[in-house]
Amino acid sequence: MPQIFQNFINGKWTDSKSGRTFENRNPANWNDVVGIFPKSTKEDVEDAVSAARAAFEKWRLVPAPARGDIMRKVGDLLVKNKEELAREMTREMGKVLAETRGDVQEGIDTAYYAATEGRRLFGHTVPSEMPDKFAMAVRVPVGVAGIITPWNFPMEIPTWGIFPAVLAGNTVVFKPASDTPKTATTLVDIMMQAGIPEGVVNLVHGGGGEVGNAIVNNPDVDLILFTGSTGVGKQITRDASSTLKRVSLELGGKNAQIVMDDADLDLALEGVLWGAFGTTGQRCTATSRLILHEKIYDTFLDMLVDRTKKLKLGNGLLPGSDVGPCVNEGQRNVVASYVEIGKNEKANLVCGGKIASDGELSKGWFYEPTIFENVKPEMRIAQEEIFGPVLSVIRTSSLSQSIDILNGTIYGLSSSIYTRDVNSAFKAIRDIKAGITYINVPTIGAEAHLPFGGVKQTGNGHREGGWAVYDFFTEWKSVYIDYSGKLQRAQIDNYE
Ligand code: NAD
Repeated sequence: MPQIFQNFINGKWTDSKSGRTFENRNPANWNDVVGIFPKSTKEDVEDAVSAARAAFEKWRLVPAPARGDIMRKVGDLLVKNKEELAREMTREMGKVLAETRGDVQEGIDTAYYAATEGRRLFGHTVPSEMPDKFAMAVRVPVGVAGIITPWNFPMEIPTWGIFPAVLAGNTVVFKPASDTPKTATTLVDIMMQAGIPEGVVNLVHGGGGEVGNAIVNNPDVDLILFTGSTGVGKQITRDASSTLKRVSLELGGKNAQIVMDDADLDLALEGVLWGAFGTTGQRCTATSRLILHEKIYDTFLDMLVDRTKKLKLGNGLLPGSDVGPCVNEGQRNVVASYVEIGKNEKANLVCGGKIASDGELSKGWFYEPTIFENVKPEMRIAQEEIFGPVLSVIRTSSLSQSIDILNGTIYGLSSSIYTRDVNSAFKAIRDIKAGITYINVPTIGAEAHLPFGGVKQTGNGHREGGWAVYDFFTEWKSVYIDYSGKLQRAQIDNYE
């Protein structure tokens, strides 16, 4: 019998009031049911928001260093449970073990960063324009934060939201993707073990249209941190406008790696293999376009196709698997439909392009790593996010043309250039329109202590990660303390 899981509201594990449930299955073996989870409703969200609101009044008064101490314990418990969590995550969403271990590690890094931030949360002191008067600006928590996350980084992305939210003194209602509810449940359990008080973190499972929507529309939720698709991000922006809550959006990407004619081709090859087919291409930062200089185009393409054909598809829990399955049937159908679009657009399919169903692979949602060459920048396969193992190769003749092509989509998350020329590297850093630019590194590989996010329709200007996310989770309060003992009128008495 599959295990049955619950929501976590006000410090208690509880069923949904709806009494309904959904199944979570292993994408590498659809017969394997990971667990049964509550299909929650607006009522469950209301209970979670009430609990978070009540808890906020106490939690905001806990000194930030003490909140940081709890975060340190969360980090320690993640370290202790790293391997088990990684295995659970691979079973739940399919990416290979090395990657799920990395996903947990990023949660660990985020916890320890938050722990130390408890002793910073810097404000500003500035001189006053009046004598005998002190001026400063301090950070205060905002209130109840709704954290809505996707399935491709089931540990890292929730921790990027929840840890800084809680460290800064906010309380949380967390809705994970319905493809990865188990990892979310374990994460919340670990936070409870570490001593997070009841009501501070609440977990509500279920669908985006029902649970996510109820969080966004709840007038008692002050903040929404959403990571997911651009379409849903736009919907959330519209919904949140009725209460003018603060919204941070991290959305889709159509990231490119440029390889110049002076690049170290072996290094660039390792980069694009990892960037395009790591996590089965299901990363917001995945390399989905490869922009190749014409002088090395044929040589590099041959090297790439040769290595891509050798990638081993398989269950991510088995040693030797390089590429896991797509997360579910719907996602694999999207990939297959984009391959048809690419063929109809007359791009040249040079490898992959098929569902992989030999032997054990037939049990899961596997798709062969796929490369199209002779892709034109305006084709749909070069413009739209596919979120699967499909790479579009585009030919160019100069640095400036490469950068123009790289910039020529609605997205602006990650970018990469391989070159040995320092001048080209610095021009790329200056001219590429993206939140992240890597030099001689693939488009994936963000570190937890730097700002993470994108420009254009990848987001709305906020950043996750590092110090920057604390700007989202705090309000500035300006404070003036006059110790002159008399009324001093700023801008008036000092200029009379
Ligand atoms: P998605 O947008 O379908 O879902 C993300 C989350 O939003 C899920 O929890 C979902 O249940 C919920 N949701 C869906 N509809 C909602 C609604 N109307 N109101 C509120 N919540 C709703 O995305 P996904 O398929 O889970 O993830 C893939 C997408 O996420 C890709 O576009 C990818 O680029 C993006 N992503 C972005 C980043 C980033 O940091 N920029 C990171 C990872 C993934």
